[in-house]
Amino acid sequence: MNRKPLSALIATTLALGLLSMPNVFAFENKTASYIAKDYQQHLAPLWDHFHRNPELSLMEINTAKRLAKELRIVGFEVTEKVGGTGIVALMKNGEGPMVMVRADMDGLPVVEQSGLANASKVKMEDWNGNTVGVMHACGHDVHITSLVGTARYMAANKDKWSGTLMLIGQPAEEKGPGASAMMADNLWQRFGKPDYAFAFHVSANAEAGRVIVDEGSPYAGADTVDITVHGIGAHGASPHQGKDPIVIGAQIVNNLQTIISRELAPRDAGVITVGAFHAGTKHNIISEEAKLQLTVRSLTPEVRDQLLSAIKRIAIGTARTAGMPEDKLPEVVVSEFSFPPTFNDQKLAKRLKGVLSEAMGSDALLEPSETGMGAEDFGFFTSKPYIPSVYFKVGGTPKADFERAAAGGAQVPSHHSPQFKITPEPAIKSGVEATVHALLDVMKK
Ligand SMILES: [Zn+2]
Ligand SMILES: [Zn+2]
Repeated sequence: MNRKPLSALIATTLALGLLSMPNVFAFENKTASYIAKDYQQHLAPLWDHFHRNPELSLMEINTAKRLAKELRIVGFEVTEKVGGTGIVALMKNGEGPMVMVRADMDGLPVVEQSGLANASKVKMEDWNGNTVGVMHACGHDVHITSLVGTARYMAANKDKWSGTLMLIGQPAEEKGPGASAMMADNLWQRFGKPDYAFAFHVSANAEAGRVIVDEGSPYAGADTVDITVHGIGAHGASPHQGKDPIVIGAQIVNNLQTIISRELAPRDAGVITVGAFHAGTKHNIISEEAKLQLTVRSLTPEVRDQLLSAIKRIAIGTARTAGMPEDKLPEVVVSEFSFPPTFNDQKLAKRLKGVLSEAMGSDALLEPSETGMGAEDFGFFTSKPYIPSVYFKVGGTPKADFERAAAGGAQVPSHHSPQFKITPEPAIKSGVEATVHALLDVMKK
């Protein structure tokens, strides 16, 4: 370690009269300066590489290869092709808990217009055979670069922790099946079940370098529901001879609005959106069926059950009211591909907040301000069986950009937009720093 500047800093600290926390100060300084140095030498060019070379969900072949190589270099035992393109990297370092850190690897079918010097020019064939531009438009390049940063710090500082560190490069977060595919590939049976799990998402909506730890659910659970409304076909001029599934379907859409507004307790959160309604073939035909496609969002299993059972009750009840016979009532199918909510373990989240504010300074933490009901598939790892986990967020947009937007200037581009842009240095450094402090806390010797 670099002794001279450190002793100079401690001398300054003492001179300033901050006698109560020289150890914390020294620790913080060492960790942050180690990461800052590693960023310049290794992580900055690595992020540049990942940003220029995004790959679509389920096709993260070169990304996974590079990530595996980076983790092997510093001594991790890496298994590739877990649940498709997923990778699992283990480092055993004596007795202690097994702790998992996950980073998702996929890019999106978006043509990059960020204006960055290293903007992606990649084109790929998508899942339907169409050639599309590909971009890291959600910041997963920041996640994988930070995972490497965390690996490098932990490998170089094995005297500071004890236990088994498990790093996961997860495919297909954007498309959905990544985490569940890794679980279906017997992740815990093959590699051991972690005692704790961490992950973070970089956020364009938060100031770069700051960290948000939510004590509740940072992400909602998402269910996909398909409703097939049966009708009785007839000539459009003789509605009395049929049962019109478009009218029944429209009533269902309206009646569904009362679930959130009249049935759910006002302080509970939920969303029911009918995103698609397909029916009919021609102006003068009363069709035989209508199909509705819904997304349903919730933060707790209780609300999820309440919403799903109310959707079923209303769909069937509305068709009965319209006089549909019992054998032609709507079919309500909840896709088995549902995302569980991402819950943070409240005790662990509180503890992490304390650790981070001590190590990174209390102003490094921002209060959660999420207003949407976005979903994530991290919950597949941590919900069944339950693993105490924290999914935090790390800001990625300079403060000046928010000030400019507030003054009527250019708005900060959102995730998944072609203009999406993360400032990598503060985001990656604070992502690594927060992850490292979380690990050093639960894996303390
Ligand atoms: Zn995304
Ligand atoms: Zn994302």
